[in-house]
Amino acid sequence: MNPIHIAGGGLAGLSLAGALARRGVPVHVYEKSHYPRHKVCGEFITGLGAETRHVLELDPVLDDVCQHRRTTWFRGGRKLFSRDLPAPALGISRWRLDARLAERAKDAGAQLHEGAFQSMDDAQNPGWIDARGVSRDAKGHAREPRWIGLKAHLRRWDAESGLELHLGHRAYAGVSGIEGGRANVCLLLDPGGCPPAARRSLESVLGAVGLEDLGGRIRVADVDPASRTATAGVLLDHSRAHSGTLAIGDGVGMIAPFTGHGMALAFRSAALALPHVEAYARGRLDWAKCCEAVAREVSSSLGGCKRWARWLHPFLLTPWGQSVGAAGLHSGLLPWRPLYRLTHHA
Ligand SMILES: Cc1cc2nc3c(=O)[nH]c(=O)nc-3n(C[C@H](O)[C@H](O)[C@H](O)COP(=O)(O)OP(=O)(O)OC[C@H]3O[C@@H](n4cnc5c(N)ncnc54)[C@H](O)[C@@H]3O)c2cc1C
Repeated sequence: MNPIHIAGGGLAGLSLAGALARRGVPVHVYEKSHYPRHKVCGEFITGLGAETRHVLELDPVLDDVCQHRRTTWFRGGRKLFSRDLPAPALGISRWRLDARLAERAKDAGAQLHEGAFQSMDDAQNPGWIDARGVSRDAKGHAREPRWIGLKAHLRRWDAESGLELHLGHRAYAGVSGIEGGRANVCLLLDPGGCPPAARRSLESVLGAVGLEDLGGRIRVADVDPASRTATAGVLLDHSRAHSGTLAIGDGVGMIAPFTGHGMALAFRSAALALPHVEAYARGRLDWAKCCEAVAREVSSSLGGCKRWARWLHPFLLTPWGQSVGAAGLHSGLLPWRPLYRLTHHA
């Protein structure tokens, strides 16, 4: 049997490793950090399909998570609208989710190497999979913004609904209920919208991008200091996949985070890769064909919702876009459910 090596032990890497190991495939995961660990993420999952849950055996991991049925959107502290979600969003911290996936992959027989940074110089080698997440160091188009993400857990949160989205100046923040009665607040920021001097903390950034109101609510919500995390240089929708290599999850481009759909797509790409990688491991498919098949399926199955999300993203970030979007949603000219369907994989 050919061994499989996965660089990156996030959602895509761990779920694929667990599924391969359960099928008797020898698999190694190289993760630069250690579990459990906090990670910048809105920590709510929308649009995770039943088939993906089944193929990757995710039910034991997700059975007890929070379920959010309603979302409320705000702009500059003012409530814009509240809507029921077409299907419940799942609220779980990355601290818990990734650690659970790692445990299950290990139990199934996968070899987990924590604290193991992989340069992926071996990316062209057969059996090596790039699951290192979103691009930070890639050379994107010069005009593409490199986003900053910040997050923190709140111990006492007075929620308007399980899921809140707050639109600011070239930034937005999500607040989602997670386990233990906590909430997670996560901000995505275009650095051009916030002077470096204001980037001292989540609260100071919220003030600088017109979200003082949310900052005020967070100040009384008892922030868990150990959960404060930040990341910079994130390129959205930037794919590292190229001929002869196999990338999954954000490695093939991250969908805009407002959708809450990136985690579901990471799982979906792992589920799509699984039969081809297993066939390679068993010697039934050569590596080049395996890479080709995965790239084709991932792109045709997941490309559409990413394109729609990319098209809608600017509406969330500029005053004119927010005004047009809010008026459209209020009047029904922009129908909520069809927009949700377009930005979520069926
Ligand atoms: C600000 C922000 C908010 C978001 N909010 C949401 C949300 O609410 N809901 C949602 O569904 N999605 C959200 N996303 C997107 C979501 O986080 C990703 O789509 C998802 O995590 C992708 O999973 P992945 O396995 O591809 O990558 P990750 O989960 O990022 O895993 C990659 C792993 O690789 C490891 N790694 C990286 N480089 C190396 C290396 N060189 N060697 C070894 N290991 C390495 C990392 O430590 C990490 O553990 C958000 C993203 C951002 C930036």
